[in-house]
Amino acid sequence: MNQQKLQQEVANRRTFAIISHPDAGKTTITEQMLLFGGVIRSAGTVKGKKTGNYATSDWMEIEKKRGISVTSSVMEFDYQGKHVNILDTPGHEDFSEDTYRTLMAVDAAVMVIDSAKGIEAQTKKLFKVVKQRGIPIFTFMNKLDRDGREPLDLIGELEDLLNIEGCAMNWPMGSGKTLKGIYDIYHNRIEMYRQKGDEPQFVELDQEGHLPANHPLTQDSIYQQTLDEIGLIKGAGNQFDRDKIAQGKQTPVFFGSALTNFGVQTFLDEFLQLAPAPSAHEMTDGTTLSATDPQFSGFVFKIQANMNPKHRDRIAFVRIGSGEFEKGMDVTLQRTQKTLRLNNATEFMSSQREQVKTAVAGDIVGLYDTGNFQIGDTIYSGKPKREYQALPQFTPELFMEVTAKNVMKQKSFHKGMQQLVQEGAVQLYRNYQTGDYILGAVGQLQFEVFKFRMQNEYNTEVIMKPIGSRIARWIDPEQLDTTMSSSRNLLVKDLDDQPLFLFENRFAENWFKDKYPDVKLTAKL
Ligand code: GDP
Repeated sequence: MNQQKLQQEVANRRTFAIISHPDAGKTTITEQMLLFGGVIRSAGTVKGKKTGNYATSDWMEIEKKRGISVTSSVMEFDYQGKHVNILDTPGHEDFSEDTYRTLMAVDAAVMVIDSAKGIEAQTKKLFKVVKQRGIPIFTFMNKLDRDGREPLDLIGELEDLLNIEGCAMNWPMGSGKTLKGIYDIYHNRIEMYRQKGDEPQFVELDQEGHLPANHPLTQDSIYQQTLDEIGLIKGAGNQFDRDKIAQGKQTPVFFGSALTNFGVQTFLDEFLQLAPAPSAHEMTDGTTLSATDPQFSGFVFKIQANMNPKHRDRIAFVRIGSGEFEKGMDVTLQRTQKTLRLNNATEFMSSQREQVKTAVAGDIVGLYDTGNFQIGDTIYSGKPKREYQALPQFTPELFMEVTAKNVMKQKSFHKGMQQLVQEGAVQLYRNYQTGDYILGAVGQLQFEVFKFRMQNEYNTEVIMKPIGSRIARWIDPEQLDTTMSSSRNLLVKDLDDQPLFLFENRFAENWFKDKYPDVKLTAKL
């Protein structure tokens, strides 16, 4: 591909993740987008979990049970001249460090909020990670077909709970049974509410932002109320600010209903215009690598194991940071400086796995891996050495004590443990005094996957004893006195032998702080 073509292709990429609390409507809105993209023909096909019809491939049992599949990890489609990549961030029990790391591989995030519930716990957690990256965040207030909270309240909550300005791009005219339409401030038009399946209907507004005088809605009190509210937000609300949006300091807010496919297209159209194309990355040596650099490079942000038990393969998910990926190309693995030939790559679709055609900066490729890759690895082609910045470590919240069931299996237990920890599947700690193994994770699923893989790949049955949810805080070794620990603040050390306490709860942490006011405790994230 020549340079001009590469620039064009990269400029068309839109790579994002949807963050939300379970049940806010992420799956539903994703499906609507895939429908627009022509990837699926009917709703209800994205996750086996929801419909019971699993995809044909035979992936890891645990994944099948939970309905997580690699095909829904990355979904891509072409829409209005853009090549869209949606990276899934699983919620529910599926929540894991992968969920967080996936947010390191996107250029923007869409936050879906249930307009009856407002901002919920999981959204807050994920938001925090996205916010740290400083990438643009777009908000979709969903379920407008039901009675929800006041739109002004919902926007206010963004500022109060998430500390981000909300800028209304459109405004609901009524809600639930009284829903009339969406007042699209950005396009100066109204999208009329209609039955699901009917064609979208838009009415253009005049320069004042008013309906034509003869339009029946002008007589409706809801329209009048909308005009009042629009007046209010235009006067006193946050003004649309491209720079703030680009830095993640302001979030454009859209209203709609994913289920009735109302406002989703308006959202998608505007989102794809406003969301950024892949941009340059800061490298560890202080240089900036342009996305349109002709040399291919990328980093591994996720490794998914044993999707096909017959082959015991793993897939390393690589976010392309620059250049073009070509099947069979030789790359250097930065960590080892070894050359690898990338023969086997997979393209992600919602219904099948296919061999990759073209993939450029912004796209995700899945590489079949026989154990070469670790999370965070850089691969690159060409002479100049490249190294992407390390992915952040996420402080685990759930902990388990783990031992091998059969003492004769100690060797494979240690090997499995070492490899899985290296791969980033779980985090490992040891009891400061006894040296017992303690695993840390951000979601329960990580433990289940760990247990499953120890059994399947290392033939070792493990016994796991839950310690439960804890708050991890590091302590300066100079200040440490082992008598400070108790069952309510378990003392452990991390892989670098750094000591930390696992506090039972906030109360235990505060109690400790009161007792030892001079001791400095730090959270990693
Ligand atoms: P997820 O857990 O965030 O992926 O949520 P889903 O997309 O699975 O949606 C959760 C539930 O909310 C499902 O029963 C959906 O049918 C429903 N739902 C999603 N969007 C809407 C909406 O716009 N209006 C209404 N009334 N229900 C919705």
